[in-house]
Amino acid sequence: MTIEQRYQSVQQRLQAAAKRAGRDPEAIRLVAVSKKQPLEKIQAAADLGQLLFGENRVQELREKVPALPDRLTWHLIGHLQKNKIRQALPLVTMIESVDSLELARQIDRIAGELGFVPQVLLEVNLAGEASKYGFNPDELPSELEALLAFDHLEICGVMAIPPMVEEPEQARPYFVQLRELRDRLQTSAGVPFPELSMGMSADFEIAIEEGATMVRVGSALFGPRS
Ligand SMILES: *Cc1c(COP(=O)(O)O)cnc(C)c1O
Repeated sequence: MTIEQRYQSVQQRLQAAAKRAGRDPEAIRLVAVSKKQPLEKIQAAADLGQLLFGENRVQELREKVPALPDRLTWHLIGHLQKNKIRQALPLVTMIESVDSLELARQIDRIAGELGFVPQVLLEVNLAGEASKYGFNPDELPSELEALLAFDHLEICGVMAIPPMVEEPEQARPYFVQLRELRDRLQTSAGVPFPELSMGMSADFEIAIEEGATMVRVGSALFGPRS
């Protein structure tokens, strides 16, 4: 399949899922996950009108962002090491993977030095998997006050990568869990956290049915990663 066919297919699936859920498809942003994909494929997606991309490594962002048109925007979706914060900030419009209070503190400090106020999402490790980064969903409410006190972070919502499941439908309870956590945080903070980043190639339609405002889709758009 060509990128064009894949892109049209993902767009149709996105629209259909939004329709099923009675949601406006415009309220769902497609983050094209371009990690391990060559520049030509990213350029091809951009030519089709896809302007928002997600990368999980700062090194790849450093190589790709300057080589591609300025009109593209980038989200960091992978764990950010503290020693890479300074490099990452000028390259991305959002860090979706703020996975600890300590990382938030470091980003806030460096963003302050550089004069940035990056948009961020709080990444939640929904099932407490040892292999994943992220806030513990039970502890996050008590860390919220400290997070909200950072002047150089705009906290826009939450993000999660649920545990691997055999059937996409089995991811649904995790998406519900993330949405409900977001709702609780929003109520206790008294400020909106509109963004819910959840759903990938296998399960983004279910995530949309459960309220996703951003879906992170890689292989369904670009084919297998090298
Ligand atoms: C790789 C990745 C994706 C996309 O995965 P696909 O299954 O290829 O759609 C989404 N989110 C994160 C955080 C990723 O690392």
